Amino acid sequence: MEETITNNALLKGGEFVIKESKAQDVFIPEEFNEEQLMVKQMAKDFVDAEVKAHIHKLEKQEDNIAATMLEKAGELGLLASHMPEKYDGTAMDTNTNTVICEELGKALSFSVTFAAHTGIGMLPILYFGTEEQKQKYLPALSTGKLKACYCLTEPSSGSDALSAKTKAVLNDAGTHYILNGQKMWISNSGFADIFIVFAKIDGDKFTGFIIERDTEGMTLGAEEDKMGIKGSSTRQVFFENAPVPIENVLGTIGKGHHIAFNVLNVGRFKLGALSLGGCKDSIALAVNYASERVQFKQPIANFGAIQYKLAEQSIRAYALESTQYRVSNLLQDRINHVKSQGKGIEESKLISAEEYAIECAILKVYGSEVLDYTVDETVQIFGGLGFSEEFGAARSYRDSRINRIYEGTNEINRLLSVDMLLKRAMKGHLDIVGPAWAVQKELMAVPSSTKPEGAFGEHKFVLQNLKKVLLIVAGGAVKKQMDGKLNLKEEQEILMNIADILIDIFTLESVLLRVEKRKGMGKDCTVQQHILNVHLHDAADRINKNATDALISFAEGDELRMMLMGVKRYTKHTPCNVKESRRVIARKLVEENEYCF
Ligand SMILES: Cc1cc2nc3c(=O)[nH]c(=O)nc-3n(C[C@H](O)[C@H](O)[C@H](O)COP(=O)(O)OP(=O)(O)OC[C@H]3O[C@@H](n4cnc5c(N)ncnc54)[C@H](O)[C@@H]3O)c2cc1C
Repeated sequence: MEETITNNALLKGGEFVIKESKAQDVFIPEEFNEEQLMVKQMAKDFVDAEVKAHIHKLEKQEDNIAATMLEKAGELGLLASHMPEKYDGTAMDTNTNTVICEELGKALSFSVTFAAHTGIGMLPILYFGTEEQKQKYLPALSTGKLKACYCLTEPSSGSDALSAKTKAVLNDAGTHYILNGQKMWISNSGFADIFIVFAKIDGDKFTGFIIERDTEGMTLGAEEDKMGIKGSSTRQVFFENAPVPIENVLGTIGKGHHIAFNVLNVGRFKLGALSLGGCKDSIALAVNYASERVQFKQPIANFGAIQYKLAEQSIRAYALESTQYRVSNLLQDRINHVKSQGKGIEESKLISAEEYAIECAILKVYGSEVLDYTVDETVQIFGGLGFSEEFGAARSYRDSRINRIYEGTNEINRLLSVDMLLKRAMKGHLDIVGPAWAVQKELMAVPSSTKPEGAFGEHKFVLQNLKKVLLIVAGGAVKKQMDGKLNLKEEQEILMNIADILIDIFTLESVLLRVEKRKGMGKDCTVQQHILNVHLHDAADRINKNATDALISFAEGDELRMMLMGVKRYTKHTPCNVKESRRVIARKLVEENEYCF
């Protein structure tokens, strides 16, 4: 399949903070080609016929139905679209894979089964396996004949994954590692054939292993009784003197963290796409009900309070969608770029995911929170029926909640995004110091404003200014740290503020570039411009609050006053009638009866 190539291959991860992107650099869903639309339809048909039609069986995990669904998805090629052809994959480009993930995000709790198998389950072998391991496992994983799971978490090590206690010791014959320990919360473990397990060799060398299901000494706990995603198998996995052949060591001994964390980068990206699919389904449910439910002699969709919710669900989903496909294409461009320098496809994919680890963390946090907001408001729109198990709203509400917890909790991902940004700046990979100084100087000078020209000049001007706010806060905090007056590691509240500013800037820029590109394609942008205006209005206000909260906690006196003045100046924007904009968005949604932007 043809790969999408644009000219932003050299935009570095995190660089959006200091560098302006152009509309032509981003990929937007309006650009799906015929093949992508065909794959999208095929994935949708699969979800409707093979998953949604069997929801009651799935929720009860009857007859191991999730495993059967995986096999059916495998027959259609949905498990192997990211696999090279030599491992029976179809090697589709990243954007097509994102489309598939988005559609599978509508597959209720099966979406977790799908993600665990195709992401954290299969990718460790693809990225870190030996050629023999790849040949042995990947073709059968691609078709769904074999099913995979990923075992990192333990009862005493979740976010602090590297403190795992599971231990591996080489036997006297030197043929097997003997594993002892316990893993917890393992998705797909009830039916998986292949277990990617992390254990410490001799208690200190954190290492990955490929373990087959019938391994002696490996047993499973009972299915967890969970709040949601009830159709997804989740169990504990126990190892009691379980022998694992030495040829099943995955990657380099002592470098298991490299596997665990790199695979999670991809998992976080996928979680954004899955959340997007979930949002769109939830919005369709909400708008359909709002149009049909009559109270006070009219559909509840006529009420401003309900229109606010419908519009807000759509605005956030649009921001997620714009950001998701932007990152998808950044990944593809980077893969092409790295490949052109002579690296193999697996390594190119790995390097690219690592490059955009900040963006992947943002997508994970934003996607899971937009989905949570959306399903919550859908329950509210359904009123009492939202609380009934008879309708989908309650189930989606329960299912959504896990997304903020796994693949690294949202707190951990927020911390990571800022930590990675600052580390890249310290190492000189990103020149944040220069622009931060420039903003300091600008703050002391007489304000002058030359707005970019063109249809979106005003929006671009505000965006540029919002980036300056980030530089004031992050730059100020780092300077305090260098002066020995602040230990940022101990000031997580400030890091959370910075992470939220990062999220707002990146999603806002993605929406802006999408609408601009869409307009350039000659498409009607009336409603999209309302979405952009409301998102900008709210993002600027949130950034103002986050920046103010952060600055007050580490600066004082004249310095604080000057920085706060900067925040005020740089978050200024022309007021827009957000009430009217939301009404326009909601009206369009009601007209189309589904997410349609
Ligand atoms: C349904 C389900 C499926 C799962 N599937 C898998 C799977 O397939 N494979 C797998 O390996 N794992 C899986 N997990 C485990 C999941 O990844 C962990 O639950 C998650 O990483 C959090 O770890 P924890 O539960 O131990 O929480 P903890 O790490 O104990 O965190 C508790 C709270 O403290 C916060 N916290 C922790 N450390 C910090 C810190 N340094 N700073 C600030 N706040 C902090 C967290 O954000 C969280 O709010 C699954 C979990 C669930 C519930």
